[in-house]
Amino acid sequence: MSDPRRCDPESIFELADGALGPGRVHEVRAHLNDCPGCRELYEKELKLNASLRSMQFAQPRSVCPQVAMTLPTRPLKARLLWAVLALALLLVASLALSLDGTNPMVSAVNALGVFWSLVSGFADVVQAVLVVAGPVLLVALAAGALLDLLLAAALLRTTRRRAREA
Ligand SMILES: [Zn+2]
Repeated sequence: MSDPRRCDPESIFELADGALGPGRVHEVRAHLNDCPGCRELYEKELKLNASLRSMQFAQPRSVCPQVAMTLPTRPLKARLLWAVLALALLLVASLALSLDGTNPMVSAVNALGVFWSLVSGFADVVQAVLVVAGPVLLVALAAGALLDLLLAAALLRTTRRRAREA
């Protein structure tokens, strides 16, 4: 920033972060006194830095607020999305397997079984296992859901008893 009247947002961010060299601090502060736009930017940056620190962010450099807000939630959302997708796929696969052979999923599984017969010669075994796997997966899912319900019920009962005792 050779010309003190020129706006230089990068220097303002560095000043707010305390990353500006001592020789430049005076220069940029002088500009802030003369330029309301840059002063506003500087105050916004200070507030953003304070909020980032309060959110336990170890950001050495200032970041765009939108990016900062989406960063911590993105992995969780992705994980949830994948879990839902996997569950849906599992459900579709098990349902398709338990239905009749007109389902395209079953045809695919049959094709897979034929492929395995070429490889291993155990077509009947593989077919039987794949056809049985569908309902088993479905039962496993249902059992899991039932277990969750039982756990929730047990937890609720314990909590209520504790509340009564207290
Ligand atoms: Zn300015």
